[in-house]
Amino acid sequence: MTPKEFLAIAKALPEGMLLVSGAGKILAANRALGDLLGTSPEALTGKLLFDVAASPPEKIKTYLQVCSRSGQMMIGTLSFCFPPKKIDCRAEGAAVAPGTKGKAAKILLRLRPKALGSSQFVLLNRQIQALTREITIRRRTEEELKRKTSEAEEANRIKSQFLSNVSHELRTPLNAILGYTSLLLDQVYGPVGEDMREPLERAKRNADDLLRLVNDVLDFSKIESGKMPLDLVPVDISSLIHDVYVGMKLFIDKKSLRVQWNLEKALPMIECDANKIRQVFVNLFSNAIKFTNEGGVTISTRNRPEKEGIEISIQDTGIGIRSEELPKIFDLFHQVDPTATREFGGVGLGLAIVKEIVHLLKGEIQVESEYGKGSTFTLFLPCRSGKLTAP
Ligand code: ADP
Repeated sequence: MTPKEFLAIAKALPEGMLLVSGAGKILAANRALGDLLGTSPEALTGKLLFDVAASPPEKIKTYLQVCSRSGQMMIGTLSFCFPPKKIDCRAEGAAVAPGTKGKAAKILLRLRPKALGSSQFVLLNRQIQALTREITIRRRTEEELKRKTSEAEEANRIKSQFLSNVSHELRTPLNAILGYTSLLLDQVYGPVGEDMREPLERAKRNADDLLRLVNDVLDFSKIESGKMPLDLVPVDISSLIHDVYVGMKLFIDKKSLRVQWNLEKALPMIECDANKIRQVFVNLFSNAIKFTNEGGVTISTRNRPEKEGIEISIQDTGIGIRSEELPKIFDLFHQVDPTATREFGGVGLGLAIVKEIVHLLKGEIQVESEYGKGSTFTLFLPCRSGKLTAP
């Protein structure tokens, strides 16, 4: 094949191609190869393959010899660069050395002595070159991702362990404070005057709040580390919700809110962890009351036989949540308006715990809300205990 014949074929091809003599002299190169190396085909013509390819001369020699001798097609890689020798093609991905203007390429070669005439060969495939780079980059990204994931998992495990240890350490003295304050209020240590009762009650209320918070943190770390056991028993959801309501009645009456009930009569018993689900209702109910100043709360239950479960919704006429905030409210420590904490209390743990418990119980939770009008939290719980497995 003459250089002219070669160029007639190679000219219009999108793949970089060059024709090389048995001694390694470049007889012709097409435009695509020039573009690939940031030069013109003419500038490459007449150069030795050893000058343009940055791979070791022995490697190039071996390619040329093996091809000439065996007459078989060979596949291998050579690094090319232009202008010759100015570029460090040995770097991974054949990167262009800093400060140089040329281009470099690590290219897969297909050596076809038979097809092109003995000892004339070399097909440089631009797409494969791009692919080679892509694979290198992807492999590096995957390795980085794997490393980062295992680092994050380890950090998360340490955090959960730390939270769990701290919570245990805090609970012991807190229980002592609560115990002694209760004993003082019960006048076990002697009469308590009216002037002392109010500050003591306030101290006990605050210690109660603190204990609840510590318990929440402990719960969360237990759930997160997969150490939260489930105690599955038959549960009558209607009476459980009613119990929660009775416990909160004082709080509801204080804000003059009305509570409406919309309960389905023939609701099946479900197999569930009663304490965990009580915790979910307490959180959802107290949020509904906390964020509602006028109107009230409607509680509805519905049988969903087609999904083998039941649905409970807690709807309020409160401040509502903006649509852009909705996806984030189940995140740990997320509060729509942290400055409102002083007004409403809480630290943004409640819904994160709710979500984890519901998940643990193989249930679902959804929220719909209209800013300024109110929110509805809808909970689905499965009936079948067989589906529930403690981690
Ligand atoms: P917090 O302890 O701060 O109440 P939660 O995790 O229970 O934490 O709730 C996270 C945030 O979601 C709250 O700070 C509040 O901004 C918003 N939120 C939760 N429930 C309601 C609701 N019923 N109405 C309006 N906003 C709510």
